[in-house]
Amino acid sequence: MSAPANEDVLATPLQFLKGVGEKRAADLARVGLHTLEDLLFRFPRRYEDRSRLLPIASVRPGIRATLTGRIVHAALRTTRRRGFMIFEVILSDDSGSILLTWLNQKFLTNVLKAGQHIVVYGLAEMRGHGGLQITNPEFEHLDEEEGGAVLHTGRIVPVYERAGTVTPKLQRKIVFDALARLPADLFDPVPEALRSREGLPTRYAALHATHFPPSDVSLEDLNRFRTSGQRRLIFEEAFLFQLGVAARRRSTLTEPKSASIVVTDATREAARQVLPFKLTAGQRTALKEIVDDLQKPHPMNRLLQGDVGAGKTIVALLAAVVAMENHLQVAFMAPTEILAEQHFATISRLLAGSRFRVALLTGSTTAAARRQQRAEIASGAIHLLVGTHALVQDDVSFHRLGFVIIDEQHRFGVMQRAMLREKGLHPDVLVMTATPIPRTLALTLYGDLDCSAIRDKPPGRTPVKTLMIPDARRDEVHRFLQAELEAGRQAYVIYPLVEESEKIDLKAATEMADTLAHEVFPQFRVGLLHGKMKADAKDRVMKAFAAGEIDLLVSTTVIEVGIDVPNATVMVVEHAERFGLSQLHQLRGRVGRGTHASHCLLVYQTPMTPDAKERLTAMVETTDGFEIAERDLRLRGAGDFFGTRQAGMPTFRLIDLVRDRELLELAQREAERWFGEAAPNARAVGELLRSWSARFRLMEVG
Ligand code: ADP
Ligand code: MG
Repeated sequence: MSAPANEDVLATPLQFLKGVGEKRAADLARVGLHTLEDLLFRFPRRYEDRSRLLPIASVRPGIRATLTGRIVHAALRTTRRRGFMIFEVILSDDSGSILLTWLNQKFLTNVLKAGQHIVVYGLAEMRGHGGLQITNPEFEHLDEEEGGAVLHTGRIVPVYERAGTVTPKLQRKIVFDALARLPADLFDPVPEALRSREGLPTRYAALHATHFPPSDVSLEDLNRFRTSGQRRLIFEEAFLFQLGVAARRRSTLTEPKSASIVVTDATREAARQVLPFKLTAGQRTALKEIVDDLQKPHPMNRLLQGDVGAGKTIVALLAAVVAMENHLQVAFMAPTEILAEQHFATISRLLAGSRFRVALLTGSTTAAARRQQRAEIASGAIHLLVGTHALVQDDVSFHRLGFVIIDEQHRFGVMQRAMLREKGLHPDVLVMTATPIPRTLALTLYGDLDCSAIRDKPPGRTPVKTLMIPDARRDEVHRFLQAELEAGRQAYVIYPLVEESEKIDLKAATEMADTLAHEVFPQFRVGLLHGKMKADAKDRVMKAFAAGEIDLLVSTTVIEVGIDVPNATVMVVEHAERFGLSQLHQLRGRVGRGTHASHCLLVYQTPMTPDAKERLTAMVETTDGFEIAERDLRLRGAGDFFGTRQAGMPTFRLIDLVRDRELLELAQREAERWFGEAAPNARAVGELLRSWSARFRLMEVG
């Protein structure tokens, strides 16, 4: 797809626009606006309908109104509170007048003066003694400059984000001039066939309609970014992004696989032998998707998502059996030694009756045993090796490594795959995670990964019951814990640890452990786990808890994801209002793993922010990790979804991952189709990928 020269017009520096001199160009550059493209691909923040302005007299309280009129009075008023000033303006039109007030903005005395014609936007409210008022309205001068009447009033106008010295009004004017520069046959990166199939306007038409909408467009649609012009531009970005994803995916598809895998009746029988129970429908589907991949000529690159307890391990193991039946070795990696040991125990048990040999390789393996193991791995005598993620870094050499399973670490899975490839290995890779990722994020962040999801749970589970309890009713929590511990169960009490107040929090957690140990539950064994402890000390406490030697574990949030202590039935989260939704859900996943009914008690301090209340309510309402993930994304927005800005997260200009999910999905389908139909050559794909990585500022991984 090489662009005709007329696309270069978008690369025109803004300085060439009318009225943009060197100084203004510098102002614009400071806020990231260098070219026509930068300018035109920045959406207005909102739109105002200035074609049908309300007479001031008809404004009702509670309405966000756009009004225009003349300033008949403007004055700064001091108040009884020292240093607190109010700037008051009375705005009038033929029908009446309204009071506008700005708090502590003394400089406005030089900006808004009697006699001026302005347009304002804001929430009309009742004044104490009758009449209406707008506090801190946005405003623009309607000076009688050339063209001003066409541009700033009498139509639906775009209102841009104020950026430094670049006011919304100035930007409107520059955008208007920029649009006038575009040739009507502006190059369009979205193919015409696709446009007509989806009813999308051209790039040229969409840019015009988005910045200066025709009068018959619904203001509500505009403000929700749902007009065809806006959607078309959002789609364009998504489509170009997905083309890159598809190209990247294709470039890995050309890799040869370590060895080919076939599935026969004998293979199926071998898998059946291992299976201790009936798979759920979700497990069956996931297994089929994985085994289908194993049989393909190029390496699998798949993410298996499923809530804690969904039964991912058995699915991975059955796929491993398929690989081993094909005389391939399997590496199974977990994030920590404890988890590796757990997997090793489970897998050894399940494979006990088979001819496959399993080994565990961790930091605690003795040197002698290690030597022996290495020899057996190299000879192929060991078929399945369980270890920590360090496994790939270690210079373990396999006889025929064909399948790598990476548990609970979707973020590092990509890097591990890269590491394997550097070693010249192209095994099938399955990454498992109990942190469901909302679909739109999976589409963007892991666009080149295939996804499987297990949404159901093995039968016979009682869902964890979740309760919100205000801090003031703490003794209820203690009574509940008492009863469970007396019945022989175990429990967690989790403290938040916020970096800014780490010392204080740590002290609070330590003190709470002390109080619980000596005053509240002297008859039980209380353990403490926190991030400042040495790794082996942590390990000891965790193992003691797993072995039932500790009844109540007080912990900051370092407890391992995936740790399995079926006898633990209570999860108490202190300061639950401080935790993110996904984090709370992860914590809840530590309980409800055995046959006993489990509870999650969210202890909160009042007052709570509305967001905190929504998070806790979501926890009470649902135990479905996928639902939780979607709600979390809606609450936090994409940027914060992972707590910090995720490395490798693309920077989009127009796409909002929460709002534009559908368009992203459409773009993904269309990008795949484009590759199928246009069948681009390797060089074109290479070029696409190069410009793509720069454009979306993506780290080159995988
Ligand atoms: P996770 O998805 O969290 O890794 P696991 O694979 O550890 O879940 O499975 C959780 C528990 O459920 C294990 O004890 C496992 O043996 C059991 N399990 C998994 N699948 C089924 C099933 N289909 N029927 C009954 N029990 C199952
Ligand atoms: Mg697991």
